[in-house]
Amino acid sequence: MIQTSYQQTSNSSSSALSRAANQYESERIHKENEKVLISGGWRCACGRVNASYVGFCGCGETKTSALAKIESKKEDEIKKQKEENELQNMRKLLEFKNLLDSGIISEEEYEKKKIELLVI
Ligand SMILES: [Zn+2]
Repeated sequence: MIQTSYQQTSNSSSSALSRAANQYESERIHKENEKVLISGGWRCACGRVNASYVGFCGCGETKTSALAKIESKKEDEIKKQKEENELQNMRKLLEFKNLLDSGIISEEEYEKKKIELLVI
């Protein structure tokens, strides 16, 4: 007894193909950008990568101001990260305070944690 079954072909193959093409394209652009960056190019705040001799980005930003913006953004991020860490440590400390208050950890252990968490 031979049974033939037809497998349904879905439309997904064409969209999978275009997805693959898109990915290939974005990888190609990524590689191009890497090449430009290695050869002294610069990345604008808008995400465009421009060659080193290009003074203006397509978005209208100048190289100098774009680089200054990125630098200050980096500083902001570091500052924000530090504040977040401090906040997180405070939360942890509060948890330890609760543990101390409920008698789960000793005063000594709490003080130790406090020093650990407050000295960054
Ligand atoms: Zn730009």
